[in-house]
Amino acid sequence: MPLQMNISLVIPLLNEEESLQELHQWISKVMTSHDFSYEIIFIDDGSTDNSWNLIEKLTSQDSAVKALKFAANFGKSQALNAGFKKAQGEVVITMDADLQDSPDEIPSLYEMIVKDGYDLVSGWKKKRYDSKIRKNIPSKLFNWAARKTSGISLNDFNCGLKAYRLKVVKNINVRGEMHRYIPVLAKNAGFTNIGEKIVKHQARKYGLTKFGMERFVNGFLDLITIWFVSKFGKRPMHLFGLLGTCMFAIGFLAAFSIGLLKLLSLHYYHRPAPLVTDSPLFYISLTTMILGTQLFLAGFIGELILRSKNNSPNYTVLEEL
Ligand code: UDP
Ligand code: MG
Repeated sequence: MPLQMNISLVIPLLNEEESLQELHQWISKVMTSHDFSYEIIFIDDGSTDNSWNLIEKLTSQDSAVKALKFAANFGKSQALNAGFKKAQGEVVITMDADLQDSPDEIPSLYEMIVKDGYDLVSGWKKKRYDSKIRKNIPSKLFNWAARKTSGISLNDFNCGLKAYRLKVVKNINVRGEMHRYIPVLAKNAGFTNIGEKIVKHQARKYGLTKFGMERFVNGFLDLITIWFVSKFGKRPMHLFGLLGTCMFAIGFLAAFSIGLLKLLSLHYYHRPAPLVTDSPLFYISLTTMILGTQLFLAGFIGELILRSKNNSPNYTVLEEL
């Protein structure tokens, strides 16, 4: 069997022409001084500047450099996904292209996967060089919510610098904008040995951040989605059926008591009970029974969708003999 390559670097980029050459030099220096066999996979996520020309030049100078060019800006998640498909190294390391992440961290991240047995190691920008109001404070809140919903104790879910065992990246599918939650995807796929390493962070040297303020709104909505999908995605009826049953039961009890009141008041007071529409119970039973049925239907439809479109497996195979 040929020796497996040590490291695949996956680097998504959007308009980072100023950084690419410097980044490539720095990576090459670190890799050769540690004698790693490696590949660098650049994914050009629809850059409109000179980035792709520079990458072409790098590929002609250095056979370790490989690259994909997207036809348009499909987003960092898609770029990572494409890089993961291509990666071959025993350890896959993702890194931003803007020089905010330091290639000097690569050797120790590699060690943590290979020697310490982690499935995934996430960088932690403990001392962070970004704007306080626009990034640091919202990101604290965001990480707190992600910790609570996922049960993974990371301080910095969205750090671009992460290392993975090859098996992990081959078994997760980074959809939408889920690059913020890759540790959660990994955990859901069964890779629970997740570690963290404090990494050096630098201020952005060139250009501007490629994500606007909408990142926070989208980030939180994605968090709700991922929580829901990981908990009930494979069994929607368990959630909607339960809620629907509770709702319906409340409605049924309310309707039952209306009927009971009618009978009792005739029997004991010998006069007809007030009109059912005068009783609040009537409205309660009306709404809850309708809501209950709707929730049930949502559950059924969810199950139908799952059954008709079940092309992604529900399991991860760890080993095969
Ligand atoms: N990026 C990308 N596609 C996008 C947005 C960003 O490939 O649609 C890349 C970007 O070029 C950089 C990395 O993702 O290499 C992180 O982006 P950025 O530095 O703008 O994020 P920040 O550091 O501000 O969180
Ligand atoms: Mg950056």
